[in-house]
Amino acid sequence: MRFATKAIHTGQEPEARTGAVTPPIYMTSTYSQRDQKDFDYARGVNPTRTALETNLAALEDAKHALAFSSGMGAITTALTLLKKGDHVVISDDCYGGVYRIFTRFMSNYGIETTFLDLRDLVDVEDAFRPETKMLWMESPTNPLMKVVDIRELAVIARAHDAISVADNTFASPALQNPLGLGTDLVVHSMTKYLGGHADVLGGGLVMNREDLHEKLKFAQNALGAVPSPFDAWLVLRGIKTLPVRIERQCDSAEKLATFLHDHPAVGKVHYPGLPDDPGHATARKQMRRFGAMLSFELKDAAHAVDRLRRVKLITMAESLGGVESLIEHPDSMTHQSVPKDQRLKQGITEGLVRFSVGLEDVDDLREDLDRVLA
Ligand SMILES: *Cc1c(COP(=O)(O)O)cnc(C)c1O
Repeated sequence: MRFATKAIHTGQEPEARTGAVTPPIYMTSTYSQRDQKDFDYARGVNPTRTALETNLAALEDAKHALAFSSGMGAITTALTLLKKGDHVVISDDCYGGVYRIFTRFMSNYGIETTFLDLRDLVDVEDAFRPETKMLWMESPTNPLMKVVDIRELAVIARAHDAISVADNTFASPALQNPLGLGTDLVVHSMTKYLGGHADVLGGGLVMNREDLHEKLKFAQNALGAVPSPFDAWLVLRGIKTLPVRIERQCDSAEKLATFLHDHPAVGKVHYPGLPDDPGHATARKQMRRFGAMLSFELKDAAHAVDRLRRVKLITMAESLGGVESLIEHPDSMTHQSVPKDQRLKQGITEGLVRFSVGLEDVDDLREDLDRVLA
């Protein structure tokens, strides 16, 4: 089966008893065990969640997937693969919540981290120590849309016996499949493109390795960051239209990136789809299209927030990947938890604006952006 067909059908055969075409939402915390042993307690197993997990695994061409209450729920569960004394090599412009969990929590458990620009493979190789047990990557990154070479990074991790993890939230499984490029584990915030409608939080872990599946399934039940059946159902519903949504969103993002690139009020545009973008060649190798996230630098950096407030159609908000376009200011919003000097080192300047391209008519979006820039 091809991607668009899997998005609609995998894990969702009509229900045996009634023929319901849409998976029922099993709102139950426990199950009668008089006549069956497969279902015991809903933290461990729920049929609506199983439908989502089966579907998500298929989207990444993987053997296994596990669903969580949020992206961070999936991530904290994945971090139970680490133990005291371990070291992690991680992207320096990783998601802000991931930076926070490594610096504010994992450090308390004796886990050390090295943050660096994963585009430089020599630096990555140098950062590995005998105790390095995990390599954590994102591509494209947030908010600068840096593209890292997933295949090369997975090779380095494997040579050092470290688990390679790719946060695939920005690309979505429609555009990029890191397991096929050699990584051990894929992370998703299903709150974004998979859910797609800004109405639910969700997270996912996807893998082929049986040992990782066994450990993480145990941790999923032990830690308990599981989605409600209704949330699992909402994400499943969202996924059905992911293939068509992402095509249109990529079309619009490509047009808007060119518009911004040529606009006199804009400095740099960060979008791997632009032929002069430093990530373009690598993106071509590992992504089917270039995604619907972009960022750009306002020449008038001092008034960035005031300018963003001029939007009428676009919403000034955090998050991404939904049908509605969102614009935000990383320096004062999504990336505020990253210390200022670290932000500047990464290139998160006062003039940087991040844009999640939605499904509105692209001409309406262009007019609204023009108002921001005027
Ligand atoms: C949003 C996001 C997360 C966290 O997911 P939540 O669903 O908000 O908990 C992790 N990684 C990336 C890249 C994200 O965009």
